[in-house]
Amino acid sequence: MNSGPHFDLHMHSSASDGALPPAEVMQRAAAAGVELIALTDHDTLDGLDEARAAAESQGMRFVNGVELTADWRGRVIHLVGLNFDAQAPAFEAYMHNLMQLRDERARVIAQKLEKRGLGSNLYELAREQAGETQIGRPHFAKALMLLGKVGSMQEAFDAYLGQGTVGDVKATWPSYSEATELITEAGGMVVLAHPTKYKFTFTKIRELMADLLEAGAIGLEVSFPGVTPGHQHELIKLAQQRQCYVSAGSDFHSPDQRWTSLGRYPAFKAERLITERLLAASA
Ligand code: AMP
Ligand code: MN
Ligand code: MN
Ligand code: MN
Repeated sequence: MNSGPHFDLHMHSSASDGALPPAEVMQRAAAAGVELIALTDHDTLDGLDEARAAAESQGMRFVNGVELTADWRGRVIHLVGLNFDAQAPAFEAYMHNLMQLRDERARVIAQKLEKRGLGSNLYELAREQAGETQIGRPHFAKALMLLGKVGSMQEAFDAYLGQGTVGDVKATWPSYSEATELITEAGGMVVLAHPTKYKFTFTKIRELMADLLEAGAIGLEVSFPGVTPGHQHELIKLAQQRQCYVSAGSDFHSPDQRWTSLGRYPAFKAERLITERLLAASA
């Protein structure tokens, strides 16, 4: 394993599609032994203040985070932004646009599911699950569970929401370069989230990384739930070749997810851990 603090730089709260409020996520992470932490909700900064206060009161070092949905050559990717100034003026318009995009997309998802006879007022029901935060497919999965149409989140994604199904509605997400610029201009760092989760070949992942690094990103996640030892080896090799930084995180959403928990991801050893940069930046 790597030396340095026990870190977890990818997780979600109820500010996006996670189950627990930001403060509770932080309390549980501290109890799990995490020392350096970022909250990275999808397309929102709303949970950061609450999370920071809770993390610091538990003695953890907290860095601002976000997981931005972005377009790369017509495909959807996720970029993790870390250690930016959340007060930077550009965030307001950017997040407002994402809120509108997600809301419009949710209305289309609802229509499509309703046409399939899966219920009525599905937008309203999913919106209740999301509250005032960024709405996404997991909120529809919960709605379908509440209606008894599916038995689990996984079943909802497999049948109605996952890639290639009726509820997999496209949106015009901001480009990877806009997302990267937003974070870097706010003083932060960008890494590619879970590179093997996009069903890309490794050739494509290398092309994607070339474009991202060119746009100002500094690295990629090499450890996250579900990554195989073989894939992790390839990702670490890629980081080594490109001399870029490596990150890792649990991608925690809920205590019900049995395949991941706070502070946990497959052990690895690599050079240029992003925590070196984070600790230097906040020293
Ligand atoms: P969205 O942001 O609306 O595109 O929804 C994507 C989110 O759905 C991801 O961040 C995951 O939390 C969740 N998700 C994606 N695929 C699955 C799946 N197969 N099972 C459960 N949750 C999933
Ligand atoms: Mn999610
Ligand atoms: Mn993601
Ligand atoms: Mn995530």
